[in-house]
Amino acid sequence: MIMKIIDIHTHRANDALSIQILNVFAQNLPDAELNSPFSAGLHPWDIDLVNPEECIKTIERFAAQKNMLAIGECGLDRIISMDFALQERYFRQQIEIAEKFRKPLIIHCVRAYSDLMKFKKASKSDLPWIIHGYAGNLDITQSLIRHNFYFSAGERLLKDSRKHDVLRAIPPDRLFLETDDGDTSIAEIYSLAAQVLNIDQETLTQFITDNFKRIFGNVYL
Ligand SMILES: [Zn+2]
Repeated sequence: MIMKIIDIHTHRANDALSIQILNVFAQNLPDAELNSPFSAGLHPWDIDLVNPEECIKTIERFAAQKNMLAIGECGLDRIISMDFALQERYFRQQIEIAEKFRKPLIIHCVRAYSDLMKFKKASKSDLPWIIHGYAGNLDITQSLIRHNFYFSAGERLLKDSRKHDVLRAIPPDRLFLETDDGDTSIAEIYSLAAQVLNIDQETLTQFITDNFKRIFGNVYL
């Protein structure tokens, strides 16, 4: 039997060969087709494009659905001009929803890792916090590992050879892989990651499947 590979964060619903967590932006939730696993969150980039209070309510309303596997993507971004206090406010509210429904977070974080670690400490959350599209440096990675974060790597990290040490530093039981909104297929992402980690694809698939099972159960496997 072929084991399906897992794409922990994607913006494109597609291929039957993988199990995906489809990212749905909160503002699109009411109109989205939600037959398979998905996550939903208010993205920090979108705060002034949508009605954020309404979005938070919508996320909370959908969070009870079984196939809504995680809250997010949500998070913090220090590169954009969006008021940081506002970003923090809505991130905090989404952490609270995650806690209330006991669902993991899928996190967008750009140059705000120390802020993120502060949030995790303050929340005392024991839920998995998965940083998606991860491409931090080695020092930050070590700190995040100590703070019990999970990491999801995609093409940005895998196609940058300077970042390969970072991938190797992530403990296998904290790693996921993703396509995000990129053009690289999930099969290619697995193949790149296996090469960088110098392991065979079955081994890689197995430990990522184990991670998924541990966090999300095996209903979707
Ligand atoms: Zn994304």
